[in-house]
Amino acid sequence: MTDAAPSVSDIQKYFASASFTQSAARLAQCPLDEGLETAFAGRSNAGKSSAINRLTGQKKLARTSKTPGRTQLINFFMLKDQQRLVDLPGYGYAKVAINKKLEWQKHLEQYLEKRTSLTGLVLVMDVRHPLQPYDVIMLDWVKQYDLRCHILLTKADKLKRGAAKQALMAVKHAVKGQHNTSVQLFSAAKGDGVETARQVLFDWLH
Ligand code: GDP
Repeated sequence: MTDAAPSVSDIQKYFASASFTQSAARLAQCPLDEGLETAFAGRSNAGKSSAINRLTGQKKLARTSKTPGRTQLINFFMLKDQQRLVDLPGYGYAKVAINKKLEWQKHLEQYLEKRTSLTGLVLVMDVRHPLQPYDVIMLDWVKQYDLRCHILLTKADKLKRGAAKQALMAVKHAVKGQHNTSVQLFSAAKGDGVETARQVLFDWLH
């Protein structure tokens, strides 16, 4: 890439280069805390895996499996030397025992608090059910640890245009006072909002 602003296709290629590098069950197992990384969080079933797959143009990068065991791991995908995407454990999975939930919560919070290479958090929410209790906890941590946050209101294709816009406005209003937090509509199924999201993440990672 030259010094000129990268084109939409440069940015697309950048994310398409993502490849799985490793999983971690806790902070100590994460790769060295160097360079820059952007993490994805969201309730189980919100559409996080589908969003990662769509953003990278790789259908199977993040497995869209509902197996709670798998979701306990933090998964790292390398983009370039020292630039990474991170898939955090999905939260709120109904069938998981409360002590397991608390354990995940602890690891998630430690990651958000301690990880110095973390440049921002993408919070994935189903546009039809935004700002659930765990999402609000995540937003509190974003504030507490002074992180940047970009909310993807995904599955936007499931609502009519007017209803999707209304949901967007409502969430924008709810996070209005929240420092460094932005919101957009997204659809992994249709590709709506993909370029906008890629641009935000690209800027965070550079
Ligand atoms: P995760 O548990 O957050 O990783 O959620 P998944 O990515 O596995 O998605 C949960 C379900 O929602 C799956 O059946 C997906 O096919 C579906 N889904 C995810 N994103 C979209 C979207 O943008 N539009 C539609 N219509 N369905 C979606």
